[in-house]
Amino acid sequence: MGLGVPCCRAVIAAITALLLLPIEASEANWLTDAFKGSPKHSKASAHVAPSKRATSARRAALPKPHHVKVAALGPLGPSALKVPSTCEPKKFRIVLDVGHTAESEGATSARNIPEFTFNLRLARQIEEKLKVEGFVETRLLVTEGKAKPSLFKRVAAANDLQANLFLSIHHDSVPNKLLEDWEFEGKKSHYSDRFSGYSVFVSRDNPDFKASLSFAEMVAKEMKARGLQYALQYTLPILGHYQHPLLDKETGVYSYDQLVVLRKTRMPAVLLEAGSIINRDEELRMESPERRDIVSSAVVAAAKDFCGPQELFLGPP
Ligand SMILES: [Zn+2]
Repeated sequence: MGLGVPCCRAVIAAITALLLLPIEASEANWLTDAFKGSPKHSKASAHVAPSKRATSARRAALPKPHHVKVAALGPLGPSALKVPSTCEPKKFRIVLDVGHTAESEGATSARNIPEFTFNLRLARQIEEKLKVEGFVETRLLVTEGKAKPSLFKRVAAANDLQANLFLSIHHDSVPNKLLEDWEFEGKKSHYSDRFSGYSVFVSRDNPDFKASLSFAEMVAKEMKARGLQYALQYTLPILGHYQHPLLDKETGVYSYDQLVVLRKTRMPAVLLEAGSIINRDEELRMESPERRDIVSSAVVAAAKDFCGPQELFLGPP
């Protein structure tokens, strides 16, 4: 749907029809998890100051932190203390949600590989690494069926499992209007080399938004620390209604309030778009074991950080 076409009744009718289609039909290949409720935050909100918020969020997220007797520290006591966390990796249940289903495979890569294939392969590797690092309660969540019902199945499964943390694994594409044509192995295919990078999403409607944001920032920080760059396009007007507020401009955490799996889960929830598979160069990188290793290491480091010793701020000495 080009913007430069001459306006006529047929075009308007076509656009209207497109807008009236359910989301699975109109954007069948991309971000089908975006089942829209009534967005509470349609405009970009003020940016969040990540560091302070993250620290207080993590304290709020973890059960009953140890108390420190401030008086016992004396007048020259430190302003912050590292105290052991009550989070035990072996009891901490992370649900790794494999984005999309075998029936509804999400985006299609520039070389015609379904997003579901990428998601499953990466999520399996993250699961393996988390278990090796002691997060033995980690559960891989592979869901069946059509796109929209699968969203509610995921939420129900995570809630039933009483997960402590929910992480949905995806690979990114672009809206259909930005796709360009090329031929791959003799087949007409689509690509867009315009954008690349990872992005991390949270919903401000999640019941534990602060902890969700805290974990999202840890994942994004670990991705960045490994030399990866976040996707900048979600702030651009060309993304239309796929624009999202950038909550952390250092690392690339966005809010996407309407995502069912982020707002209906009863635990901190984060969605990771690990990289773009519609970008021809990045698709090849995302297919490589090296990149899967980097991304899974970043997630594991973030989980350890989330579950690690906490800093208690006691005020000025
Ligand atoms: Zn996806």
